[in-house]
Amino acid sequence: MKSAQMKMFVLLCVQTAVSSPISTADQAQVFLERYGYLQKQKETHHNAEVKSAIREFQWLSQLSVTGRLDRATLEKMSSARCGVKDVGSRRVNRGFTGHSGGHGHEQHLREKRYTHIGEKWHKRQLTYSIMNCPRSLSPSQVRVAVSAAFQLWSNVSGLLFQELQQGPTDIRLAFFEGEHNDGTGNAFDGPGGALAHAFFPFRGEAHFDMSERWTLSGLKGHNLFLVTAHEIGHTLGLVHSPVRHALMSPYYKKTGSNALLSWHDISAIQQLYGQPLAGRALRWAVPDWQIPQDPAGRSLIPHYCQGLFDAVTMDENGTVLVFLGHHFWTVSDGSVSDPVPLRTRWPLLPLAIEAAAFSPRDSKLYFFKGRRMWRFSGSDLDPGFPRKNSDVGLPSHPDCAFFYQPLGHMVLFKGSRYFVLNLQSLSIEPHSPRALRDWTGIPRGVNGALTRPDGNLYFFKEQQYWRFDPGKLSVTATGPWEQRLPWVGCHTTPS
Ligand SMILES: [Zn+2]
Ligand SMILES: [Zn+2]
Repeated sequence: MKSAQMKMFVLLCVQTAVSSPISTADQAQVFLERYGYLQKQKETHHNAEVKSAIREFQWLSQLSVTGRLDRATLEKMSSARCGVKDVGSRRVNRGFTGHSGGHGHEQHLREKRYTHIGEKWHKRQLTYSIMNCPRSLSPSQVRVAVSAAFQLWSNVSGLLFQELQQGPTDIRLAFFEGEHNDGTGNAFDGPGGALAHAFFPFRGEAHFDMSERWTLSGLKGHNLFLVTAHEIGHTLGLVHSPVRHALMSPYYKKTGSNALLSWHDISAIQQLYGQPLAGRALRWAVPDWQIPQDPAGRSLIPHYCQGLFDAVTMDENGTVLVFLGHHFWTVSDGSVSDPVPLRTRWPLLPLAIEAAAFSPRDSKLYFFKGRRMWRFSGSDLDPGFPRKNSDVGLPSHPDCAFFYQPLGHMVLFKGSRYFVLNLQSLSIEPHSPRALRDWTGIPRGVNGALTRPDGNLYFFKEQQYWRFDPGKLSVTATGPWEQRLPWVGCHTTPS
């Protein structure tokens, strides 16, 4: 197996579009293992297993399904492609044995494996950064190509993307040569073969083979825009598509003037993140510090009023704080501030936080992002922070956090559960986590929550809010928050 792997490696290195370097059953087997059709680390495979793997490969590659290594199959195996496995990525095919039974069973598996989608981001605005550039393109060319690739996805989904030149970001793009600490299976193979690969949420990495000839226009080389758009699909949670014209098909293709995204790509991304927001006039493509200068000269609506923000809370003076990307807004008595960079108020805070809550109990502000939490007294980060969420029994990436008066503790939602955090002992209460259904009528995945002076809790998810009465333990009002809740600061007076 070792020598076959070596052969494969060498062959991929010299692979060109014309020749067919994978020509033997051994080489084909290595390929099938590499891309998840056959289980790895198995000395021998049953003939039936290999046959079934070949058929699987042929099906995904739109070849006639014969189970034989015919010329078309070997050629397809040799063509330039994405380095991400076609099957077996994440939990897509849990329970699959590589050996299929009846026809119906097989069909079922296929559907399960190719249409099921794994993890997704729990927020709608994602930041990205470009770590380095290929030799053949200038940094500004790369930035334009990458931005256009992200735009492709934001045009058809509820997602927004923003490039950050510094600081941590959700998604990072980088060029590497050969082995780059991703495991041997992910080592790049020189020109041709695997061009790039990426990881599913939440790792947020897309890697490109530095030794490819990357272009944006020419006929020679591989188009960076197309490959980036495909890899971004993976970072957002999409798996390879069996549809020939899909951008998420594993094979590199030079596309003409056809629409880049197929119905399969669009329906897959919308399954995860919904459709583009209606009336989304302002995009993150416009640097958000420019937002107050509405070019149409109309009254200025804060950026977050489009239905997107990272977190919301209210301080002891009744001032509402709304967080989005690397800015926050304050709203008091219905009037809203200009966007303020997060780091002018909290210098040690990461950008694009995921949850925030003010605790009237200790007059401190708590922030959550990824696996960690930050606690501030005013603008000062408290000693010992940031702390790992796991140290205090909390999950990573909470959906929202709020101080809950009736318990005198902080509550964090995450997926189908909630956690009660005792702020004095900084540990979760013994009875938590508990099922979210305790909060009757509140959906999963809320963006933010806060308690108003009237004692009611308000939950936000995209454009909707839910008012929750802690006395009745039920939802007493719901609707579009931008219109109905003046204290969120989206009511504008026409000029
Ligand atoms: Zn791929
Ligand atoms: Zn890599």
